[in-house]
Amino acid sequence: MKKKYINGNAKKNSQLGIKHGTANNKLRKLLLFHLAKKSGMDMCFRCISKIETVKEFSIDHKVNWLDSENPIEVFLDVENVVFSHLRCNIKSARRNKIRDDAYWLEYDKKWKEKNYPNGRKHRGEKKGE
Ligand SMILES: [Zn+2]
Repeated sequence: MKKKYINGNAKKNSQLGIKHGTANNKLRKLLLFHLAKKSGMDMCFRCISKIETVKEFSIDHKVNWLDSENPIEVFLDVENVVFSHLRCNIKSARRNKIRDDAYWLEYDKKWKEKNYPNGRKHRGEKKGE
């Protein structure tokens, strides 16, 4: 049987073996995880441990956008975006936990310990302080 392509999408889908849109989403996630690893941002925001595989990698939000005052603004705010294990993300969405300042201080401390185990100095910060 001869293959007859109706349009460009059908041709793309046929050659990729999956829908072009699905392949595109997959590529974006692979790329994001790749860049997160390269930049040391492959640490789960929720449990503060390394995200090992793209399968458990998810885009998360520090401040929950759902039921917020301006959901679309909170959702698209890149400063609000973090990465987390998919399971941690789902667990957190169920709990809808609000993070307080003490949590953020602890998170920053653990992040620095992980990324700068030898206590690399930060600007305006003295070692041992
Ligand atoms: Zn986690």
